[in-house]
Amino acid sequence: MEACEKCGKEMKMYYKPFCPTCDKPVPKIQKIYNLFRCFYYMEAHGHPNFKDSVWSFLCDMYNIHNDITITIQCPSEGDEDLEDYPEYKLITLMFQEIGIKGDSALFEVSW
Ligand SMILES: [Zn+2]
Repeated sequence: MEACEKCGKEMKMYYKPFCPTCDKPVPKIQKIYNLFRCFYYMEAHGHPNFKDSVWSFLCDMYNIHNDITITIQCPSEGDEDLEDYPEYKLITLMFQEIGIKGDSALFEVSW
């Protein structure tokens, strides 16, 4: 195991490497977006029928039903498996326009 860049002590491994001396535990807080609010936002900002364009795709990919929270992956550039799906381009666009950071985010689905 590699050494810590700050203190030189041995790093530990728990899913990913961390230094037990320098890396204080922080709470896992993840923002949760409401998926339908995201759809409405996109439709109000120049992307008509946004929900209709991605809904059946998301239902196939994520086994969507009422009152759940799902993690939606936003494909990175050059992800060839996903480039064939126009729906993923729209989802990437949604991440950009709403300002969702990272390559995945939590969405609540409720109707
Ligand atoms: Zn350290």
